[in-house]
Amino acid sequence: MPDAAPTTRAHAAAKRYIYAWGDGRAEGNGSMKDLLGGKGAGLAEMTNAGLPTPPGFTITTEACNDYFEAGKTLPAGLWEDVLAAVEDVEKQTGKGFGDPRNPLLVSVRSGAKFSMPGMMDTVLNLGLNEETLAGLVALTGNERFGWDAYRRFIQMFGRIVLGVHAERFDEPLEARKEAHGHGAGDTDLTVDDLKALVAEFKAVVREDAGRDFPTDPAEQLDLAIKAVFASWFGKRANDYRTSQKIAHDLGTAVNVVTMVFGNMGDDSGTGVAFTRDPNTGESVLYGEYLVNAQGEDVVAGIRTPAQISHLAQEMPAAYAEFQAIGRQLERHYKDVQDLEFTIERGKLYMLQTRSAKRTAAAAVKIAVDMVGEGLIDSREAVARIEPAQVDQLLRDQFDPVARKAAIRLARGLNASPGAAVGRAVFSADDAVEWVARGETVVLVRVETSPDDFHGMAVAQGILTARGGATSHAAVVARQIGKPCVAGCAELVVDYGSKSARSTISGSSFAEGDWISVDGSTGDVFLDALPTVSARFEDQPELQKVLAWADEIRRLQIWTNADKPEEAAQARGYGAQGIGLCRTEHMFREGERLEIVRGAILVANEATRAKLRRDNKAAADAKAALGVELSAEERTAAGVELSDDELAAIATFDAAMGKLEVLQQGDFEGILAAMSGLPVVIRLIDPPLHEFLPNLEEQLVKVTRAGDSATDEDKELLATIKSMHEQNPMLGLRGCRLGLMIPDFVKIQTRAILNAAVAVKRAGKDPRPEIMIPLVGHVNELIATRALLDAEAEAVVAAAGEAIDFKFGTMIEIPRACWVADEIARHAEFFSFGTNDLTQMTFGYSRDDAEGGFLLKYVEDRILPENPFQTLDDVIAAEMQMAVDKGRSARPKLKVGICGEHGGDPASIHKCEKIGLDYVSCSPFRVPVARLAAAQAAMAGDAFRDK
Ligand code: ADP
Ligand code: MG
Ligand code: MG
Repeated sequence: MPDAAPTTRAHAAAKRYIYAWGDGRAEGNGSMKDLLGGKGAGLAEMTNAGLPTPPGFTITTEACNDYFEAGKTLPAGLWEDVLAAVEDVEKQTGKGFGDPRNPLLVSVRSGAKFSMPGMMDTVLNLGLNEETLAGLVALTGNERFGWDAYRRFIQMFGRIVLGVHAERFDEPLEARKEAHGHGAGDTDLTVDDLKALVAEFKAVVREDAGRDFPTDPAEQLDLAIKAVFASWFGKRANDYRTSQKIAHDLGTAVNVVTMVFGNMGDDSGTGVAFTRDPNTGESVLYGEYLVNAQGEDVVAGIRTPAQISHLAQEMPAAYAEFQAIGRQLERHYKDVQDLEFTIERGKLYMLQTRSAKRTAAAAVKIAVDMVGEGLIDSREAVARIEPAQVDQLLRDQFDPVARKAAIRLARGLNASPGAAVGRAVFSADDAVEWVARGETVVLVRVETSPDDFHGMAVAQGILTARGGATSHAAVVARQIGKPCVAGCAELVVDYGSKSARSTISGSSFAEGDWISVDGSTGDVFLDALPTVSARFEDQPELQKVLAWADEIRRLQIWTNADKPEEAAQARGYGAQGIGLCRTEHMFREGERLEIVRGAILVANEATRAKLRRDNKAAADAKAALGVELSAEERTAAGVELSDDELAAIATFDAAMGKLEVLQQGDFEGILAAMSGLPVVIRLIDPPLHEFLPNLEEQLVKVTRAGDSATDEDKELLATIKSMHEQNPMLGLRGCRLGLMIPDFVKIQTRAILNAAVAVKRAGKDPRPEIMIPLVGHVNELIATRALLDAEAEAVVAAAGEAIDFKFGTMIEIPRACWVADEIARHAEFFSFGTNDLTQMTFGYSRDDAEGGFLLKYVEDRILPENPFQTLDDVIAAEMQMAVDKGRSARPKLKVGICGEHGGDPASIHKCEKIGLDYVSCSPFRVPVARLAAAQAAMAGDAFRDK
């Protein structure tokens, strides 16, 4: 690369707005994307590398910004500099801009820092008018070529710069083609056709733009430059930047490039190619070209292009050169390049190079291959993979060919990635029934609730009409790794007729019909599309990248798993512990729900009765010792439990005893599957009404039955009513529940510790950690711990051996963050429950907000992001405070996160900064989290290095 600028030209403008290239040297280079845009930087870099580029120059993004700042006038001196730069190009090419004897034509191309599909198109052949056209024809001896170039120019300039609608040109063009017979192409147009078209196009311009087509090349250039600038704030470009979170003040550069002609005959052509296959990553040139055509023809699909490999036969020399250039550019940029080229009468010109977009599979293969080739190191390979790509690789996908051909039924939110195929069922019970018959099903619901879990668990995928990306359906689907399309608002789901209809496509399906759901895109199709499966075990390259990531990351990756199968799977994905094992799922399945309900119905009565029994026993014992009793104690001693009370205790204890046995079995399974690794088990968290039938349903049932309603149903109704809360999420749940009904804490503690004993005796290494949810005041933790320690002592005594376990708490109430130091004195670990912490800090009910105003909030940018998906900065600050306070009281305090955020890459970056020890996420997100944690660590390193 030359270190001196190639020209000594003085600049008229106060700033340097123009960077030229040509003659093997460029004033700019590849590192100047901010100023020159991606295209300009690439052209400069290629020129410096000695590659054949047509000479030209870039007007900087700064010029664009200054243009707008000055109220849409070119900065002083810029135009003079443009003319001087054109003059330089004239000298290099020996042509003259507007010179009829040997006309210089240019393309005017936009080029922002980030490639933006919403930006302005390119104007080719600028500089043509009747005179220069005559010169071009005389010089090339090719009248057809000249007129073809001219009609293209008017068409493009008219559309892009003068704002004429594209169809206005298409109509006459199509008519001319049709005249040659149906299906005729643009190469069938004769010189006379083209001449007539030019006249027609000019008339269209006069009509629609209200002016004659500009003939002065300088005016054409001036207008084209301003049109590129203007396109920066065009609607499409604005929308694109907003959606991609690209800053609006970057501005676009303008590239003015000497035209080279791919449409000069059969020894000319134009094409696009990738240096490796962007679908598979295979190291072969991949692309297409057209003989005798200009740039836009390839992408416009006017003719069917040929495979790039075919060029080896058609133009061997040009092909060999192109291949060598591709290799050179790859080595230079150390990445796969997406190239645009034109061949003019056998001579190759490079028009663009940029990093190639690629599929997830290709990204991984290319990164691993390039490490093997010594092009990049493993850190770079890890940095290059996007977390979302890892996620994609672990999901089944639809066969791409079949998918392309399929007709979409509806589209919703891509809530949990992957492809699901099954027969539609409309209730969880139906799902279970159908699956028991050997069918595969997709569960279709208006929205899901915890009651639908058993159906979701057996379905291939889930489709809902309502609910956001963190609705129940979405969250559970991600947790259990099922594809889910949520919030498909166009879908009208009718439970009565067991059918659904799209209000947009008009298509419908009924129970038993096959549907295909793409959770990666949000698409829903009728019929069963073929899928290709993606197993982690079958992806050695992905495993390699993640192994590299493991060497880099500081954060441990744990998983949220409730069952041994989930635990085993997560372990296979590289999980280093369980950060959240929810016991309530264990309460819900099958026969257990009945047992739990039986216990709940008498829980309050039995708990009260037990208290009286205990008080009486204490008073009696005191009296037996001859100690004088207080008034209250005398009352307590006089109490005899009624038969009802004794029955309640018996019923309750029997049910709880059964539960304890079942839960111990569950815990044994999980502790064994995670032998040697920590398993955080959370004691019961949700309000009890979640295990009972819905109040309205029960009311309807009892009312309908009238006099024949059973006592049981009436009692159930009474219990449900007595437990009703206005705000259950802020009500009797979490540790509050355990303090009101201590037996929940007791049986769970026993089940966990006895399970540990059993697993240990089986020769494994169980590492349980007991976690108390929803602590806001330190006394809640102290009181719960007292209950728990008493049970632990009893279990240890009975087992006759020590049991290793840790005791800790969730931090999910803002108050707990403020007193985290007090709490840490009684807890060995913290786990942030960021779902509740977000809900309670914002004061949003998550279940209501997500399907409702929150979507609009994000859309209207009232909030930058859905805080239930990506950790809000204030929540992160609360966490930081809690970590600092907690560690000040207990330096070795272990801290993790087990909310949904634990699997979100952006949130993982924040967790790294906060200094957590681990993040815990659903099994399917473990690989993604491994990568994201490594990237977060590298970002941290880079930050510290500064
Ligand atoms: P985009 O950003 O849409 O890719 P480009 O500015 O790269 O737009 O232009 C599109 C196509 O137009 C190029 O791929 C190339 O084929 C053609 N083109 C652009 N400039 C020239 C030129 N100076 N000579 C010949 N063809 C050109
Ligand atoms: Mg291009
Ligand atoms: Mg919680």
